[in-house]
Amino acid sequence: MSKAPDVIIVGGGIIGCLSAYFLGKHGLTSLVIERDAIASQASGAAAGLLTPLAESSAPGALTDLCMESLRLHRELVGPLTEESGVDYLFADTPILRPAFTEDEENDLRRQYRWQQKSGMSVSWLDGDTLRRMNTWLPPDIRGALYSDVEAQVEAYRLVIAAAQAAEKRGATIRQGEASGLVRLPLAGSRATGVRLADGSQVEGGAVLLAMGPWSCFAGEWLGFPIPVEPLRGQTIKLAPPRPMPEYAIYHGSSYVLPKKAGYLLVGTTEERAGFVRQVTPEGQAQIMRTVLRVAPVLQEARVIESSACLRPLSLDELPILGAVPGWDELYMATGHGRKGILLSVATARYMAQLIATGHSDYDLSPFSVERLVEPRRRS
Ligand SMILES: Cc1cc2nc3c(=O)[nH]c(=O)nc-3n(C[C@H](O)[C@H](O)[C@H](O)COP(=O)(O)OP(=O)(O)OC[C@H]3O[C@@H](n4cnc5c(N)ncnc54)[C@H](O)[C@@H]3O)c2cc1C
Repeated sequence: MSKAPDVIIVGGGIIGCLSAYFLGKHGLTSLVIERDAIASQASGAAAGLLTPLAESSAPGALTDLCMESLRLHRELVGPLTEESGVDYLFADTPILRPAFTEDEENDLRRQYRWQQKSGMSVSWLDGDTLRRMNTWLPPDIRGALYSDVEAQVEAYRLVIAAAQAAEKRGATIRQGEASGLVRLPLAGSRATGVRLADGSQVEGGAVLLAMGPWSCFAGEWLGFPIPVEPLRGQTIKLAPPRPMPEYAIYHGSSYVLPKKAGYLLVGTTEERAGFVRQVTPEGQAQIMRTVLRVAPVLQEARVIESSACLRPLSLDELPILGAVPGWDELYMATGHGRKGILLSVATARYMAQLIATGHSDYDLSPFSVERLVEPRRRS
């Protein structure tokens, strides 16, 4: 890239790479700066579930954004596969959410009522029906919420598809570690570039910070804290002991997910362990304990590999999306927690629109960066 890019993006996870792609659709060039390799962190290791109804026990701004993003995933899969030449195995995936106790059943039935009222394709299956269906669920099952709203992708392939299609639309990807922002005195409050750890700097028209859990370190650059922390998640890849079901099982934060690539992915843990990306015997045992409760047949499954990575979790568990207050042409997109693959398309599409036009068709105000500084202004 000879000319300065229109936008410098810090972070080559799904948020950074897909933003580069959508910026390209607006005719803007971008430079993605990634410290390790594209998709080397959570974005490359995620389960790839596109499940707006997981952990969303109530309607609200986050559920709406998740539903919008799932709609956009469906719209994107054809063009992105064609432009990148990468099949990232998007597939509709029905989900069974089982109840084993009265409390679980009451909670799931409550979710069922609002989801049904919202017009979603969900149904309640009682224990007898499930036993007749011969699912992988154990015989003491009380009932399950069944949804055929949801889907999955192969997350690593999605990032590669986004990066390749972005490059075709004028993006450049460069290895390097961002260590600060450039703000020239004559440019007022405009972010004019990014400083790199090797002492060099790159200049651009705007900067987008998409640094996953490492976004907290950008607080020093901005002058106010970014309340994002790493939440470690472990998973296990299993060879299926018998033909895989068409549906996934989701119980609490645990899942059994048949992947289109022919393996089962089971998870997960939620651990506050700092930036230590490590598989632990305790984490693996916890996963197998919860997973065997929902699918005892997995006793016979063979472990292929285990992995651990770090989710970017914000303090209020909502993503942080938008312009950075006190700066011009500086933007942030992070804090997607357990849903970054699902939320990536809405995030990238509307952030790119905001950067390119100064306006987003979707109301991103519930997720604004402003909310991080407002409470301090009031006090
Ligand atoms: C076990 C597990 C399973 C998951 N499953 C799902 C799922 O099924 N569905 C779903 O929607 N979500 C899932 N997630 C969540 C999802 O993976 C994340 O929300 C998402 O990947 C975050 O993307 P990101 O681009 O913000 O962050 P990352 O993928 O972490 O990317 C950020 C990038 O920024 C780079 N970076 C950081 N600092 C700098 C710097 N100073 N200079 C240069 N580069 C820098 C990092 O190296 C990294 O590559 C899962 C997460 C885990 C851990």
